[in-house]
Amino acid sequence: SKALVWLRRDLRCDDHAALHHALRRFEQVYCVFVFDTDILDALPSRQDRRVEFIHASVLELHQALQQLAVRSGAPGGGLLVRHGPALACITQLAQQLGVQEVVANRDYEPQAIARDQRVAEALQARGIAFSDYKDQVLLEQGEVLTQQGRPYSVFTPYKRAWLQRLDAFQLTPYPVDRHARHLAPPPTGERLPTLSELGFIPTNLHQLALPTGMSGAQQLLRDFVPRMATYHEARDYPARKGVSYLSVHLRFGTVSVRQVAAVAARQAAQGCTGAQTWLSELAWRDFYFMILWHYPQVVAQCFRPECDGLQWDDAPALWQAWCEARTGYPLVDAAMRQLLQTGYMHNRLRMVVASFLTKDLGIDWRRGERFFARHLNDYDLAANNGGWQWTASTGCDAQPYFRIFNPVTQSQRFDPEGRFIRRYLPELARVPDAHIHFPAAMKPAALATCGLRLGEDYPLPVVDHARARERTLMRFAFLAESD
Ligand code: FAD
Repeated sequence: SKALVWLRRDLRCDDHAALHHALRRFEQVYCVFVFDTDILDALPSRQDRRVEFIHASVLELHQALQQLAVRSGAPGGGLLVRHGPALACITQLAQQLGVQEVVANRDYEPQAIARDQRVAEALQARGIAFSDYKDQVLLEQGEVLTQQGRPYSVFTPYKRAWLQRLDAFQLTPYPVDRHARHLAPPPTGERLPTLSELGFIPTNLHQLALPTGMSGAQQLLRDFVPRMATYHEARDYPARKGVSYLSVHLRFGTVSVRQVAAVAARQAAQGCTGAQTWLSELAWRDFYFMILWHYPQVVAQCFRPECDGLQWDDAPALWQAWCEARTGYPLVDAAMRQLLQTGYMHNRLRMVVASFLTKDLGIDWRRGERFFARHLNDYDLAANNGGWQWTASTGCDAQPYFRIFNPVTQSQRFDPEGRFIRRYLPELARVPDAHIHFPAAMKPAALATCGLRLGEDYPLPVVDHARARERTLMRFAFLAESD
């Protein structure tokens, strides 16, 4: 018997649900990754860190599968790689290899669900089965429900139920090695495409401190584990190394979410507050996947339907200033430069810039969400949509609309000495700490001392925060009436 494991956002060969089940159930198991042109052709640029990250991780995975086969005494091993529309690639390959089943890990995004449905139908028409397994989340949409059997829409009770359900069984790794002798040798003449053969050119990925592949994920995890105990204190300060930086690896499955959660759960059970807080972040991750699955309309609409009546501003010049890190609010601009230069943005800053766009500039959260989708290495529809709707106060269990971040006080609190700001805005390097959060308030003499020409070296603020705040309260006022 033969099966084909189709890897998508699960680019590893340890603790892998689909691979484990296929190896357990079939005598010969092939593995494939498709560079799906339906996705790649829609990308706005031929220079994309995500494509390069995937490409590097796929190369490593190919070698890891070969090594796994050697260790297990399998006749072959390695990854088949295809470049084309997923539907055609998978159906053709499954037929060519003569497999009885295509096995994958479950995806929760509406487009991916529709794609898998089409692939399953096409395979079925050729007498080939399609099956999928839970792998990318700890607990799925149907596993944590209210007593009435309904999805939770408030995080705190969801997390309580989630923690109760997250037992040792859920955190046990899939022992892929146990049946790895069933790995099948790829057909002869197979080779992996280069990045340029895929039509992409290199980015600055390799200059960034972002190691790729399974080994990169383990490196980041090893680095984070000793810091986990202080996560709850350090995580809000973008200038400090307080977070794990594992998001891109969780996004592409170069690390198993069970593995990282098991580490946190062990420390959390011993009363470690940092580990408990970090585990909560993984609960947020599952929460947003669950929301997206139950409410796929959130992709285009507000979770709270009454919020679709909000009148957003078009404001092209303000939009441009936000996108290009020229708002005149240093923390916002430094955060946007971090995004543009590295593809990463610290969580505190994602909240600050999302709040600034929606509540200071009055621009629809959907435009910001799309911008992040284009630039974030870890872009994930569920988490990104959840984060934007939370900040814009249109989402489930969102922050109340009258909680409007002040970009200056956020900066004073979370980057008190302006270390993060100076890292990304060298033009402000000589501005004293007292003024780094809002240089527009500096007197001419102080400006002259540090040689800063406002409006030339650094922009004047594009809006007045206090006035913008008033406008936002008015914009949302009709919600208060309907509450
Ligand atoms: P850590 O603090 O180390 O957290 C560990 C892991 O938990 C993360 O890697 C991530 O997988 C998960 N996580 C943490 N916070 C959240 C959260 N609020 N929601 C869901 N999962 C979370 N996260 C993404 O992975 N992709 C996105 O596209 C994304 N867009 C966001 C947009 C906005 C407006 C906001 C406010 C948040 C967004 N987040 C997103 C959540 C969060 O900012 C990132 O997961 C985090 O900054 C990644 O850094 P880290 O891996 O060091 O996180």
